[in-house]
Amino acid sequence: MDLHSLTIHQLHDLFVKKKVTSKEATESLYRRIHEVEGKVKAYLMLTEEKALRQADQVDRKIAKGEEIGDLAGIPIGLKDILCTKEIRTTCASKILENYIPFYDGTVIEKLKEREAVFLGKLNMDEFAMGSSTENSGFQVTRNPWDLERIPGGSSGGSAAAVAADECIAALGTDTGGSIRQPAACCGVVGLKPTYGRVSRYGLVAFASSLDQIGPITKDVEDSAILMNAISGYDPHDSTSVNVPVPDYKQSLKKDVKGIRIGIPDEYFMEGMDSEVERSVKEAIVFFRKWGAEIRKISLPRTEYAVAVYYILATAEASSNLARYDGVKYGLRSKGHRDLMEMYTRTRSEGFGEEVKRRIMLGTYVLSAGYYEAYYRKASQVRTLMRNDFEEAFQKVDVILSPTAPTPAFRIGEKTKDPLQMYLSDIHTIPVNLTGIPAVSIPCGFNHEGLPIGLQIMGKHFDEGMLLRVAYTFEQNTDFHLKKPLSLTFSG
Ligand code: GLN
Repeated sequence: MDLHSLTIHQLHDLFVKKKVTSKEATESLYRRIHEVEGKVKAYLMLTEEKALRQADQVDRKIAKGEEIGDLAGIPIGLKDILCTKEIRTTCASKILENYIPFYDGTVIEKLKEREAVFLGKLNMDEFAMGSSTENSGFQVTRNPWDLERIPGGSSGGSAAAVAADECIAALGTDTGGSIRQPAACCGVVGLKPTYGRVSRYGLVAFASSLDQIGPITKDVEDSAILMNAISGYDPHDSTSVNVPVPDYKQSLKKDVKGIRIGIPDEYFMEGMDSEVERSVKEAIVFFRKWGAEIRKISLPRTEYAVAVYYILATAEASSNLARYDGVKYGLRSKGHRDLMEMYTRTRSEGFGEEVKRRIMLGTYVLSAGYYEAYYRKASQVRTLMRNDFEEAFQKVDVILSPTAPTPAFRIGEKTKDPLQMYLSDIHTIPVNLTGIPAVSIPCGFNHEGLPIGLQIMGKHFDEGMLLRVAYTFEQNTDFHLKKPLSLTFSG
């Protein structure tokens, strides 16, 4: 049996039945990583020694007959934007190349309490800015379904690792689509929780009013398991919300009979990829067949989403990234004559092109004279978009759309044209701007065998409903069971 290809719940069952140890599972994962990583390049760092020690601890518990939780001993990958105590955390940026946090982020602490095993840190677009992982300061990750294509981004390392069976599950982060779009590109499940559901303490900030941490998994049940583990109020994060966390696994028990599903006209625009459109429409037919009520809805401000996002996200980024000045932590360039030159050189050498572009854009939209015209206006439109969604959710329980307008594109195809790249997130960005949760699940393949993602959006703090709808679809289709072939043959 290939232990690396199992899900969290499958592996947990084997641990409980004492058929397999966490050490065996962890070793199987590292074997897989060593076998395919040369092609996929999902990891920035492996923490093999620590992982085997974590696995050993769990095995001892099992051997003693102690009860274990459903994440104990499960090998997991972490996006390299999550602070891990004594383990390098780079955000795929040269400016943090040698940064070693002295604390764990809250989600890391929670997973440690539940005795998950950490395999290593996963590649991403620098500071999570991008949709293809090509903006990493270190390496380009490849899509396991077609090694010439991008895995999506910015959590491209996480999604590729899950799809390539280089980890059982992973954590990613999502500011404008960075969990869902890579999940769609790699044919796996990616959930962006409600803003405030999961603590951001120890998540290196990109755009603080939009960032959320969430699970990238092989199936919906695993997503529920990880959501149970990472959700909840945290006094360390003033934006985390103190509302009860339900048991998300309970949500999987219900089907979609009587659920009202909204289909927004604006998300099925002229010129969209015909195979993506077909797969999503087939999913709609599926839900109707399973007893859901399908309703047309309108989200009239959808067309402004990308523009609003690139004002607000860059404004917040320019302010958040001001801290990398060569003084407090991270890179300090050499050979400067005075303080000004030290700042300039450090930031010029440490940041990549896209990060610099965003800092400049953000500084511009916040500058005196432009603030009113750009930042203030964008914030106002954001409120209107939130109202649109609130109105829609009076009539429906969830909203369906494609996750991304196209399947994974070719490496290099959009790097010369940032605007084209920005449009990859046209369907995911409104979710972050309005703070609602959404999940992407596999819903088909195009003629080249590339996965297509279905996005399910829900009301604030209604992740349970998303999981319920997603699970009904998954359990009655087999898209999630297909594995990429590009890694099966050597060469
Ligand atoms: N692709 C979007 C961006 O480049 C979203 C990134 C994200 O969600 N972190 O900003």
